[in-house]
Amino acid sequence: MAVLDRATRRLIETLKYKVRMLTALTVVLAVALTVMTVLYITKDGEAYSAEVSSVTNIGSNGTTTAESDQSSLDETSSKEEGKASSENKASSDKVSSDSSSVVDAVATPGDDINSWNLKLVNSKNPLPNGFTVKTEKIKASYARDVGMLYDARAVSYLNAMCAAAEKDGINLLVISSHRTNARQTTLYNNQVNKQRANHPELSESEIKKKAATISAYPGTSEHELGLAVDFNSVEESFENTKEYQWLKTHAADYGFILRYTKQKQSITGVIYEPWHYRYVGEKHAKKINQLGYCLEEYIEYLKNNNK
Ligand SMILES: [Zn+2]
Repeated sequence: MAVLDRATRRLIETLKYKVRMLTALTVVLAVALTVMTVLYITKDGEAYSAEVSSVTNIGSNGTTTAESDQSSLDETSSKEEGKASSENKASSDKVSSDSSSVVDAVATPGDDINSWNLKLVNSKNPLPNGFTVKTEKIKASYARDVGMLYDARAVSYLNAMCAAAEKDGINLLVISSHRTNARQTTLYNNQVNKQRANHPELSESEIKKKAATISAYPGTSEHELGLAVDFNSVEESFENTKEYQWLKTHAADYGFILRYTKQKQSITGVIYEPWHYRYVGEKHAKKINQLGYCLEEYIEYLKNNNK
């Protein structure tokens, strides 16, 4: 009995030991499982927030791309677009700094290209059919004809320039300003007839081409845009007057440029017109003069420096 008892006791001890070991193992496993669960949850949380921020970045890139597309399809935009999409996995700092540089590019000079005061109208850039613009009468004392009209947004600059000239003893008289498409058609047709009479040796297409350098083809005249004015006399000798000299010195202060210079005829496609001025706004007028560009060149310059 005693031996059996001893054997039984040993068995019981062994079982107790195994149970303790099993319990300890279970506890260790449980702890390990808890730790792993906690770690997993934390990691999952991080993963979740990282995913949200990456979704946000993709969203902001998407918006930026849309803005770039809207502004222009120039090289800069598509370059930025490519950069943004390839860097979706990059750190949010990097992505956000890229986004802000794109926004800057959209916000600075690029906007001006599409603004009303820089609207380019020439033989390659005609006005849309049925184009209209809100006009106002030029102050009567500065206009040759009753009720001459000019773009309502710029007429105050024109009046102010004429008033300043008057103070300096200079008489600026507007002899042509806003024209309707019908009026421009009449002027163009008259010019074609004149060229046909003066140049019987030219073909009809040569006659029309020549006429268009003097009186723009309907839809391609700045006078239809409402931002052009002709002063005093449509004669080249206007450049010898004190009015011309005054304009040369002061026009940019009021936002006006001499639109068709002698030097840029091959770019503008229009003969030298010392009498024809165009409103672009003071900032642009001064920059255009400083660069020695015509409006066509200046628009290109703005496009290329859209950064
Ligand atoms: Zn003109």
